[in-house]
Amino acid sequence: MRAGVVGDPIAHSLSPRLMQRWIEALSLDADYQRFHISTDQFSTFIEEQARTDLSGLNVTLPHKAAALDLAHEATEAARAIGAVNLLTFKQGRIHGDNTDARGFLDSLHQAGADPQAGPALVLGAGGAARAIVYALQQAGAPEIRIANRSRASAETLAGVLAPEARIFDWDDRDAGLVDAALIVNATSLGLAGTDSNLQLDWSQAPRSGVAVDSVYKPLQTGFLRDAGIAGLKTIDGLGMLIGQAKPSFAAFFGCPPPEAVDIRALLVASLEASA
Ligand code: NDP
Repeated sequence: MRAGVVGDPIAHSLSPRLMQRWIEALSLDADYQRFHISTDQFSTFIEEQARTDLSGLNVTLPHKAAALDLAHEATEAARAIGAVNLLTFKQGRIHGDNTDARGFLDSLHQAGADPQAGPALVLGAGGAARAIVYALQQAGAPEIRIANRSRASAETLAGVLAPEARIFDWDDRDAGLVDAALIVNATSLGLAGTDSNLQLDWSQAPRSGVAVDSVYKPLQTGFLRDAGIAGLKTIDGLGMLIGQAKPSFAAFFGCPPPEAVDIRALLVASLEASA
């Protein structure tokens, strides 16, 4: 059995390490490779691979929207989010799915956080935010709030996925913290290599709130550090990354990944080694 991940760039991807560890733990006769494919080669590459013995591919930036266009059929989640991060191949047919939303909910579940506990503020309106808003809507979050630098993108996202969502101007994002049970950073602010921070007034947030970052490099972002100092529980972005990989593994190799493997420790070590 063979599968892999395709993107541009791809050298930084943690997926091969994660998948290989699960393959080894189950002693599967399987392999998971990385493919560095540019935008202009993407559709030809996928159509060729779909005719080989490859079970499927994870898809990362910048190909997630193109992967949806190439799929012969796609799940409701993939169509709603407008992006595919999992392609599976069967007799030349290309099936698209999006497991980021499930990954986000899995990360909440693993940390004992309840998406129905109260209002959820999502900061951002890009690809990660779309998956997270979709997940929150599916999980029955009682109120969804969105704040994004470009208000128009927040309004478009809400129009497609969560018409009842409350939109906050970016300059007024602190108001979205009031009574929020979940506060999610789905922007790229805090990513390693940028010295950006969200600059939130955490005194507006309840101490019972949970702050979740989609960024996992670094693991301890300024967002999570400040939320922790204000007394909130924090969940880093590795939970979502591991959570989205679980259904991908099952789709490629026909069995769930082994629970007993401490995959988080492996990824933390990889991140530390590359820091
Ligand atoms: P996109 O490029 O689609 O979206 C980026 C978002 O960040 C937009 O909302 C953008 O706002 C906002 N943003 C960027 N720069 C600024 C700034 N200077 N000030 C305010 N807002 C800003 O990226 P993705 O949604 O794909 O990814 C976002 C983050 O989520 C990344 O760090 C990515 O690594 C992470 N991620 C993590 C996953 C995981 O499994 N843990 C899965 C997927 C993503 P605007 O619309 O105004 O430009």
